Amino acid sequence: MAEQARVNLLGLDRPSMEAFFTALGEKAFRASQVMKWIYHHGVVDFDAMTDLGKALRAKLYAQAELRLPEIVLDQPAEDGTRKWVLRLDSGNHIECVFIPEKDRTTLCVSSQVGCALACSFCSTARQGFNRNLTAAEIVGQVVLASIAVGIPENKGERAISNVVMMGMGEPLLNFDNVITAMAIMTDDVGLGISKRRVTLSTAGVVPAIEQLREVTDVSLAVSLHAPNDELRDQLVPINRKYPIRELVAACGRYIAGKPHRRITWEYALLDGINDGPEHARSLARLLRNIPSKINLIPFNPFPGAPYRRSRDEAIEQFRDILIQAGFTTIIRKTRGDDIDAACGQLVGKVEDRTRRSARWQAVPMEKAL
Ligand code: SAH
Repeated sequence: MAEQARVNLLGLDRPSMEAFFTALGEKAFRASQVMKWIYHHGVVDFDAMTDLGKALRAKLYAQAELRLPEIVLDQPAEDGTRKWVLRLDSGNHIECVFIPEKDRTTLCVSSQVGCALACSFCSTARQGFNRNLTAAEIVGQVVLASIAVGIPENKGERAISNVVMMGMGEPLLNFDNVITAMAIMTDDVGLGISKRRVTLSTAGVVPAIEQLREVTDVSLAVSLHAPNDELRDQLVPINRKYPIRELVAACGRYIAGKPHRRITWEYALLDGINDGPEHARSLARLLRNIPSKINLIPFNPFPGAPYRRSRDEAIEQFRDILIQAGFTTIIRKTRGDDIDAACGQLVGKVEDRTRRSARWQAVPMEKAL
């Protein structure tokens, strides 16, 4: 007889965890108890959950598991950034990056194996798309990283203070699992990270932004990269479906009525493509009515990339124009680029199901753009 699949409890938010325990004939409060063991103490072995009682632990062993992705590579960079390559059950690989800073620690988490959106400047796009991550696989990245950088010794303090859904994949195309995972990250008995410190980054799936507003209010970042449709259609092809005007309007609605909230706009600077003063000025016009923070990301090259990083003077001039127009603007420091952990350099090892990578190889780059 086939063994019944055990539930990976890392994918259950508090209500589902309560339902799970109730179905086992246990009290609902067991849910919080187990979640605290996992997320506050980094314990992923039922036997170490000493206040559970032997009978309950036996039931849990029979029906549930706490399974983390397997670490195949744990790579530290010179600047303290640390990248993990993780192997999933399906044999696919994803990447996850830990970024320590003075006043916080940020984990950059993947939401899909590969990505289907084909942004022309992103190396993940070259891999094609394989599948959505489960909620357990998304949460598993945070648990694994917390354990690796040391929750247990860190009494009381969070090993990871911020999570950005900015790894591989488009989080809004894996909506339900991402929402569940973020609920676990922000729950007090879960990872307990404040909603402002969990950031979802999207290439601009407009209907999903509308939906997101209904169910959560985590911070929202949008990968803009161009101030007009003509250029954005080339760089971020999903723009052909959801043009800039609709995107900006949806973002305005997302933070409407929430004081002190801003949209973070990400803008990769590509030499001679989108980095001129005229682009900066039109960006400032485009965003003038939206409370905004602008992150300029100097392009991170990867083998075969059709772009170059903008010159330093161009980057600074671009920033100065935005600052003069009143926008908080920062040039994002490139972190971990010696280990290919910087934005757009995460590739994992993906078995493409869309044949996108074959298309990339067959079509000369100028034509593909
Ligand atoms: N799909 C989501 C999540 C990925 S976030 C999104 O698009 O927002 C990763 C960020 O890095 C995005 O802003 C992406 O546009 C940016 N990026 C991708 N490739 C890059 C590269 N080669 N150099 C700099 N930034 C890049």
